[in-house]
Amino acid sequence: MSCLTERSIHNAGGNMTRPSGVKPNRLFQTSTMAALLDAVYDGEMTLGELVQHGDFGLGTFDALDGEMIVTEGEVRQFRSEGIASGTTADMKTPFACVTYFEPEKTVTIDKPMGKEEFEELVNGLIDNPNLFGAVRFTGEFEKVDTRTVFCQHKPYPGMLEVVAKQPTFRMGEISGVMLGFRTPPYMQGINVAGYHLHVLSDDRKHGGHVTDYRVKSGKLEVARISDLEISLPKTEDFAKADLQPAGLHEAIRTAEGG
Ligand SMILES: [Zn+2]
Repeated sequence: MSCLTERSIHNAGGNMTRPSGVKPNRLFQTSTMAALLDAVYDGEMTLGELVQHGDFGLGTFDALDGEMIVTEGEVRQFRSEGIASGTTADMKTPFACVTYFEPEKTVTIDKPMGKEEFEELVNGLIDNPNLFGAVRFTGEFEKVDTRTVFCQHKPYPGMLEVVAKQPTFRMGEISGVMLGFRTPPYMQGINVAGYHLHVLSDDRKHGGHVTDYRVKSGKLEVARISDLEISLPKTEDFAKADLQPAGLHEAIRTAEGG
């Protein structure tokens, strides 16, 4: 994978039809968070394949080339400064999580709340700490802080080294969609324990990996996830990766921040 500088604005996916045989609210993920942390930045799965497994989700791209959001079946990429650039079906991902999201509960948020209060609200709605949850908030924000990773060159540095150099960006009052997953603590390393959310502005031009936020008003939708499918890479990099390093939990908290 090389680091391209320009791509036409086109988004892989766009097919929102759930294939027969695929349940709603079933999590499909490629590789593991621990592998990403150990610099396994090149995956085997194309975006074209990924969107067969879900129309909603998040992830990153080969060579750690930006943050991914999948919404309404379309895959968008945020590269430097959280600006959207196009994706094509043949691009690949080293880590992504998608589902066909069907909300089980919907609530209206009509008073501002920060991240902690928002997470407590979602925890109450999911009401089971040992299941995954899918979360989508659509509405107005008072602020959203994001981070965006950028394209790496081989030999790849570890993710902690990459993240230490990443600037964060603050979007002030915006409207948009923030979505992602809550992962139970025992899944740390397979995925990111706790909340992992990405955001996309209504103008579809800005977004990224969310580190902090304050929502103002809007619609919150959640669903429990009890079915998982994990596709592990058969690559040499994955074979050689150390997936149980000392300090894994702290490393993921630092890398995925928030
Ligand atoms: Zn992320």
